[in-house]
Amino acid sequence: MRVLVVEDEKRVAAAVRRGLEAEGFAVDVALTGTDGDWLAQENAYDVIVLDIMLPGINGYKLCANLRERGDWTPVLMLTAKDGELDEAEALDTGADDYLTKPFAFVVLVARIRALLRRSTTTQQLIYEAGDLRLDPAAHECRRDETPIPLTAREFSVLEFLIRHKGEVVSKLEILENVWDFAFDGDPNIVEVYIRHLRVKIDEPFDKASIQTIRGAGYRLAADGG
Ligand code: CA
Repeated sequence: MRVLVVEDEKRVAAAVRRGLEAEGFAVDVALTGTDGDWLAQENAYDVIVLDIMLPGINGYKLCANLRERGDWTPVLMLTAKDGELDEAEALDTGADDYLTKPFAFVVLVARIRALLRRSTTTQQLIYEAGDLRLDPAAHECRRDETPIPLTAREFSVLEFLIRHKGEVVSKLEILENVWDFAFDGDPNIVEVYIRHLRVKIDEPFDKASIQTIRGAGYRLAADGG
């Protein structure tokens, strides 16, 4: 397993490299966003650990660049900042998970392994609800053949809903399955993502496939709304 670590604090970068190598990972380190962006284009990584505040290209931009190139390598973002807004921003650039600095090394390794498991167990399945179609392997969402670009997290939320189409799923279930049980931020972040999804998959098509079930959660209409 090959990991790219993009981190400008040399001591942190060196410690992460030593630790990950001891765990059996192959590790490349970039000390600037620009180098990180270049390495990510030149090599295939299994996971990218990405600091946000970097010289050159910052972490948000680097992650957005990856996704624009159609590169869905799992990204774990490191943030020194606190607050839901920052988390939402990180996730919305296409990051798959985030970790607030300072962090315990065992937590970093656990998060990396969780991301690896998630990406290697992606099944070759296509989900459908009416004319709404989701292909997790290709990271493609379509409504009646119209491609709908989704961020990694939006995609995961929709994937969870469509796997349970016609059923009511609670906010907590979505959180636990999409953000994993280690998430300790504001559960209302689910609402933010439901809103994003409605704007993308429903409103332009005059549909209402994601139904709010008051006091219970959400339900994706089995017929696509
Ligand atoms: Ca930094």
